Amino acid sequence: MLQCPSCARRQEPRLICSQCGAPLTADLDLFAALGLPRLLQIDIAELEGAYHDLGRRIHPDRFASASPELRDASLRATALVTRAYRTLRDPVSRGLYWLELHGHKLAENNKQVPPDLAELVFEVQEQLSELRSAREKEGPGMREGMIELSAKRASLQGLMDELYAELVENFAEFDMGDGPDPGQYFAELKTILSKIAYLKTLLRDMDRELDGEKPE
Ligand SMILES: [Zn+2]
Repeated sequence: MLQCPSCARRQEPRLICSQCGAPLTADLDLFAALGLPRLLQIDIAELEGAYHDLGRRIHPDRFASASPELRDASLRATALVTRAYRTLRDPVSRGLYWLELHGHKLAENNKQVPPDLAELVFEVQEQLSELRSAREKEGPGMREGMIELSAKRASLQGLMDELYAELVENFAEFDMGDGPDPGQYFAELKTILSKIAYLKTLLRDMDRELDGEKPE
């Protein structure tokens, strides 16, 4: 139970006191922070609405002349709500948070290429290195290399769209919760997210090369 520093009412952990409306410092997960059900399929309009409504009610400007404790609670609650909004708005960061929330966190420095993508990654790296050497020599292969790379980029983007569709499907499976083995959904989610992360890096490298920038 949590006690409101303003009116002393004891209540379940929540962001705003049910009696006096003061912001509370509570250790809430990001779904609870926004008052959303703990589900992966989020109505973005509802998310935006909750964020703006809560944000207004706990805004630090409203507590500028309040007690230090209340000012502090308003700052903390605002930071929590902002983090919740930013994390849950994007399906990829929402999925990553879901894994973290359930103790299945994806390894931070997972440099291993997902097996299905290995061949593709190899091809792209070949193309990139050919293009780089053609560019250095200002050779004739440059134009062709750029055209090939653009075409590959388009197919990668197509793959990325498919992965986002798989992510949406996975979210629906989790929310229905009627599968044979929830462990399988976690494994699927991890695979999809690590593929997306890998493709993002690859697309970024391709864009740099297509824009003629030097990689870092
Ligand atoms: Zn209160």
